Amino acid sequence: MTDLYLNPQDERIEKDLAEYKRLNKNLAKKYKGKLSELSAEDFLASLQQVEQINVLGSKLAVYAYLNMVTQMKNQEAVVLYQHIDEKMTEYAKPAIFYSLELNRLSATKLRELYKNTNVAFYKPFIERVRRFKSHELPEEQEAIFLDKSVTSGSAWRRLYDEHSARLTYTVNGKTYNDAEISKLLQDKDPKIREKAGKELNRVSKENSALFTFIYNMIVKDKSISDNYRGYKNPVSARNLDNQVDDKALEALVSSVRGQYKNIADRFYKLKAKWLGVKKIQYWDRNAPLPFSDDKLYEWNESVNIVLEAYQQFSEELYQTALPFFNANHSWIDVPPRDGKRSGAFAMPLPAKFHPYLMLNFVGKQNDVLTLAHELGHGCHMRLAIKQGELNEDTPMILAEVASVFAEMITFQSLLSNLKDDKAKLCLIASKVNDMINTSLRQIAFHCFETRVHQERQNGELSSERIEDIWQEEMQTSLGNYVIVDENSRAIWPIVSHFFHSPFYVYAYSFADCLVNSLYQVYKDGKISDFSSKYLQMLSQTGVKRYDSLLKPFGLDATDSGFWNKGLSLISDYIDELEKLDKKLTKAGKIS
Ligand SMILES: [Zn+2]
Repeated sequence: MTDLYLNPQDERIEKDLAEYKRLNKNLAKKYKGKLSELSAEDFLASLQQVEQINVLGSKLAVYAYLNMVTQMKNQEAVVLYQHIDEKMTEYAKPAIFYSLELNRLSATKLRELYKNTNVAFYKPFIERVRRFKSHELPEEQEAIFLDKSVTSGSAWRRLYDEHSARLTYTVNGKTYNDAEISKLLQDKDPKIREKAGKELNRVSKENSALFTFIYNMIVKDKSISDNYRGYKNPVSARNLDNQVDDKALEALVSSVRGQYKNIADRFYKLKAKWLGVKKIQYWDRNAPLPFSDDKLYEWNESVNIVLEAYQQFSEELYQTALPFFNANHSWIDVPPRDGKRSGAFAMPLPAKFHPYLMLNFVGKQNDVLTLAHELGHGCHMRLAIKQGELNEDTPMILAEVASVFAEMITFQSLLSNLKDDKAKLCLIASKVNDMINTSLRQIAFHCFETRVHQERQNGELSSERIEDIWQEEMQTSLGNYVIVDENSRAIWPIVSHFFHSPFYVYAYSFADCLVNSLYQVYKDGKISDFSSKYLQMLSQTGVKRYDSLLKPFGLDATDSGFWNKGLSLISDYIDELEKLDKKLTKAGKIS
């Protein structure tokens, strides 16, 4: 990360921190209490200073974060992160006035300021800050809410985190943490999966009194705040944040629910057959197929597969991706190491820097798709930042478009290179598994939390009641070939989003179905110049709403036909699986 700082001891870190402090202080000194009286030129200067603060802040924060997550056991790295995080929070305080005063500007004043084209450039940023204006409370009340949050909502979330982290699981006499036990569900031995599945449920059940209490408090805390702020229903604040209108969400939920049977029943019936049972257990939904071959891919081979898929789709996308593999500077942390955080992500940076990717690549088929996914994020970041440092803030529902789309084109190219039917079946089956987990399962989660938040308005819910709702929603979404019973009905607290970010989960499904619909349009081939329109769309995800971004593709998200188009992609893959299964069974290659 030498483009940011030479090493954690680099003197420029402290220098930049001091500069960050000075800029924030200076912003308050120059503009606090005066924003509504500034000329367009001075207003522009204030915006530019906010931008400068942001660029410097993200350089510092990203360096400290990446330096830590790649070596969590290095105490110095953890200390550096905490140091920078604490100092930045403290130094940023004087600048809080800025968004408050931005909110208080009258519409007339803003119209006047926008006449200056340089100010108008910042419109997406200004509008984003002002989006929550009508739900803001008087300053004194906001201050009380902020102060009290430490002992209310955030306190309950912290208790949830700390308690969850302390939980241990025992299988065959060995002790596991939550990440490790989840891995056992991927074991090829069904007996180990069963023990791990039951153990997950047992531990949740044992702790259900505490989790139930915490969840009741978090839901109530949110409803108190929603009431004061005048949000119509529990999902409203999240919708405003995502810039999703209630109608589009309703269309998504009802389309997905309408497809539960067609998709889940057909897929899990096949999966049960492959696993040699009549119905599969809840924990076996993502189990590996007994006849999968587990071929490993070399890193260079994987890079070539992904880049070729990108190039086939668009030369421009390929050119955007190439610098990530620059021989002189590595932008991707590839293999797993002791102390490196698990998972994968892409890290955005200001335009004058280059985004970083973090992977834990071991060469599995899924790792190739993860590279395609994170590289998709990286390309998206490079395209979107051109709209301006402050303007770029892609909402969650659009943040996954480039990554999921990139994964899809790479999946197709992997698939077309396979000759063997059994390998094809395994690849498609794992893709369908993922698609169900994202498109269907997250909506089942959404329906669960919607019901809990609604019922909470009449008083606290018991553990039994929450488990009832969970079991009903899981069973409805998973259909007749998956068993949801006493051995899995208590595990709802595992979904940390319920505690951390209420109503966050639907965005996963929204994003996935949206990309699937877009991909169907691409496959249909009726939109001329699809790839350049697509890249144009990616460059504007921070400044335009999803509905206007979808227009060039003839798509409308409030129409259930739009969502069904995306869902039909999953259904098409299941058709393919049914055909392959018949063929292979007839040939005696699988039973
Ligand atoms: Zn992603």
